[in-house]
Amino acid sequence: MKSVILDYSFQNLSKKNPVHRDIKKTDALLLKKCANHVNELAISIAQVFDNKSGIITIISDDGEYVTSNKLRLLSKEHNIPMTVAGTIINVAANIDHWKTIIEEGNIELVNHSYNHYRMDDDWKYASDEDRYIHEIIHAEIFLRNQLGINDKVFVCPENAINNLGYKVITDGGIVAVRRGERGVNSLSPTDGTTPGDWFNLKCYGIMDQPKYLKTRKEMRAQWLKSSIGNWLIEMWHNVDVDGYQSISYREAQNHLDEILNFANSNNLWISKFTDAVKYLRTKENTVIYSWKEEHKYYVALICKFEGLELTQEMTINCLLEGVQLTYNILPNKLYCIENRRIVKVDNNYSGNEV
Ligand SMILES: [Zn+2]
Repeated sequence: MKSVILDYSFQNLSKKNPVHRDIKKTDALLLKKCANHVNELAISIAQVFDNKSGIITIISDDGEYVTSNKLRLLSKEHNIPMTVAGTIINVAANIDHWKTIIEEGNIELVNHSYNHYRMDDDWKYASDEDRYIHEIIHAEIFLRNQLGINDKVFVCPENAINNLGYKVITDGGIVAVRRGERGVNSLSPTDGTTPGDWFNLKCYGIMDQPKYLKTRKEMRAQWLKSSIGNWLIEMWHNVDVDGYQSISYREAQNHLDEILNFANSNNLWISKFTDAVKYLRTKENTVIYSWKEEHKYYVALICKFEGLELTQEMTINCLLEGVQLTYNILPNKLYCIENRRIVKVDNNYSGNEV
């Protein structure tokens, strides 16, 4: 049965996306308050959330309907967050289903293009910018308008994109792209398009062919090991549905058990793709302000990076009065530490001007 798919994308379209800034006018007071206190307490941001030693992310490509229900179960059973890179043709056909999944919160949905074309130089429309805008930007507008997804990240269909695609990606303010090169990423990717850079993040395919006579189990165990001190992205496709790199439900369960065991014994952060991007991008683009006023300590992480909603807490470490302290705080908020307890100060903060 072929379902009718509405095309929402050409409504109210402007070529450039609106720019999101997390610093609002109402935050002016906060900025003014911070301005004279660049990190007087020598507070540092942990390399990974919760002082973990590396990151593991699971991305299931395409947003196939049956698979998404299996992922829901798997993610609940194992209490593991996951990311689905969905094409709009798949998502639009089951929009209420996706609204439910997003509301549940375990699984996030990210942009995997409108129609899943292989957008390399061999594509029939490889030099037609409007086609790329439709595939990449209109897909993003769909996700924003229909599902409230505001984070600008992209997963390339067929692991490919050409220079024109990259132009559309950067013009559109997208801040992280997973392609399909094999390997792990560092915890501080650079802004470029070579494998491991922000616009070409690497992954391993769940059904990749093992080399050197290894079993798949050994191969996966080896890439889990490589996540220590790095950011590992596993690329999944369908679960219990035939197709490229499909796995059975049982195999998925077994591998998730292995991930959990490994992450627990090696202190790794299992994170949605966008949360990992948020953590690492915020860390790179934050100015730390901290100071002491009478017996209270103040700290704010000011990040003006655009393209992401800064909803991911950041882990800070500090040595106050000889005691090592760790807190998780949101960017662009002012916090006050008193008697080792940290509280968020509202934007009407009106403490002593210094
Ligand atoms: Zn795909």
